Amino acid sequence: MRATLHPRLLNGRQGDPGVYLEALHHAEALLLDCGDLSALGPRHLLRVGVVAVSHAHMDHWAGFDRLLRLLIGREKRLQVVGPSGFAERLYHRLQAYTWNLVDRIPAELAFEVTEVTEGAAWPRARFRLQDGFRPEELAPVPAAPDGTVLRQGPLRLRAAVLDHGTPCLGFAVEEAMHVNVWRTRLEARGLPTGPWLAALKAAVAAGAPEETPITIEIRGAAPATHPLGALRDLVEVTPGQRLAYLTDFADTPANRAAAIALAREADILFIEAPFAVGDAAHAFDRRHLTTRAAGEIARAAGARRIEPFHFSPRYEDAEARLLAEVHAAAGRPPP
Ligand SMILES: [Zn+2]
Ligand SMILES: [Zn+2]
Repeated sequence: MRATLHPRLLNGRQGDPGVYLEALHHAEALLLDCGDLSALGPRHLLRVGVVAVSHAHMDHWAGFDRLLRLLIGREKRLQVVGPSGFAERLYHRLQAYTWNLVDRIPAELAFEVTEVTEGAAWPRARFRLQDGFRPEELAPVPAAPDGTVLRQGPLRLRAAVLDHGTPCLGFAVEEAMHVNVWRTRLEARGLPTGPWLAALKAAVAAGAPEETPITIEIRGAAPATHPLGALRDLVEVTPGQRLAYLTDFADTPANRAAAIALAREADILFIEAPFAVGDAAHAFDRRHLTTRAAGEIARAAGARRIEPFHFSPRYEDAEARLLAEVHAAAGRPPP
């Protein structure tokens, strides 16, 4: 499959966790966690349209000021996703600075926060520069049963609440399926190109029933209407790519179930593996995974490529060993 999702692990397997994610033909990037952002230059940071933060431990959130500094004076509406209470954390972060005279800045900058919680509705809030980032409560959104938080172009972001001694979000990003028209089949059947192909593609992508009428405009003649089922062979459907980002959670049955559901059939799985298999008690005490737990979750989810990260500094010279442990538990040869 052609790679259309292009993730970049920002600080290697040992540094602050974070993934910068670009998608082919899509202008905006997603930032999964917001720790050390020094690997990203202004050009990349200004493309960020969504910041999804797993939890507010410093290594996942300390880099926000760098992004904020760049955004002042720019037109931007940034979507922020975080766990319960995150809007208040962002508010305090913003209030660390003085914002008088900002009404002179013509460019509108706004942060719109959605908190993914275990409740029936997810709280939302907005902070606008020209208001001095005063908090504005927005109407909460009903919690999506499948964890969908937002859509951005062809991408859908899902989240689930994991337990890390504090609520911590796991994320999945899924690209919409690709629907391509076979030009040769179109010609073979003597059908013209035209706007009707967009309607056909949209109907296929939406999973419309076979009898759905599709009207074909024919130049110099009356339009012809066919059921979707009679036109389906004109298009080729390829599933979109999936990426999961799972970090900072204890090895508990509930966490495993939620993590596996998010990572199911992922093309790329970023998963934390901070502690070696021999240090399981320590890992549990810190509410983190071992390499073995990470590998077992990847295996149960059927993830294709595994990218372990968030290795504890105590294994500074043992990266290869940790990687081998993850892959062994996943039932794969060492990378
Ligand atoms: Zn962490
Ligand atoms: Zn943490």
